[in-house]
Amino acid sequence: MDEQKWLSCNEPTIMLDYLRSNGQTSARKLRLFACYCFRRLIPHRIPNKVLQAVEFAELFADGAMSTAGLARARDAAVEDLDKYGFTASAVFEAFSCVMAPDGIEVSRTVDNVLEAMESMGDGEEKIKAERTEISQVIRDMHGNPFHEIVLNPASRNETIVKLAEAVYNERTMPEGIFDPQRLMMLVHAFQEAGFEDQNVLGHLHHLDYMHVRGCFVVDAILSKE
Ligand SMILES: [Zn+2]
Repeated sequence: MDEQKWLSCNEPTIMLDYLRSNGQTSARKLRLFACYCFRRLIPHRIPNKVLQAVEFAELFADGAMSTAGLARARDAAVEDLDKYGFTASAVFEAFSCVMAPDGIEVSRTVDNVLEAMESMGDGEEKIKAERTEISQVIRDMHGNPFHEIVLNPASRNETIVKLAEAVYNERTMPEGIFDPQRLMMLVHAFQEAGFEDQNVLGHLHHLDYMHVRGCFVVDAILSKE
């Protein structure tokens, strides 16, 4: 992997292996990423309780949910997965990965999500587009590992932190996507504070792809890893 490959790579597993082997990701980011991948299945009529459990997994990733709470959410959702006929399916496997209390098998999550899509009728083109989308979100979460961006603490005033908290908490649900308008407010707050780092502003400005929990700029503002 080199910088050029990183920027255009559409193979989630290769990207994730690279990040892990260099210690450039975290258990938190990997679980949030797995949650995002699972949500790509929403068009396939995933039961509500299952989507709620994924929100619990995100809280767990952020240290705001106990292992017991995670297990309860998982058990409640499994009943619905059974009821809707997802037992022993790739959907079930992907969900089990997301809800696993210790460590997350993130590549297995991706494989199962894509397999589930295929089994539910998504064609080759659609799967290819999904790979691209998923890879882009890995970049959203990790930026460019060849050019680390370090946010100067002075660039984070109270307004900016508050706006970033709102971006993090007030998402478009159930997809779990950051609200573009809130991201723009963050850009304006940075500009008002005289902060002009184009790597940061350019990233927030980039609305062609999705920003999700784990977005490396919002994480930097909120001191999350
Ligand atoms: Zn982002």
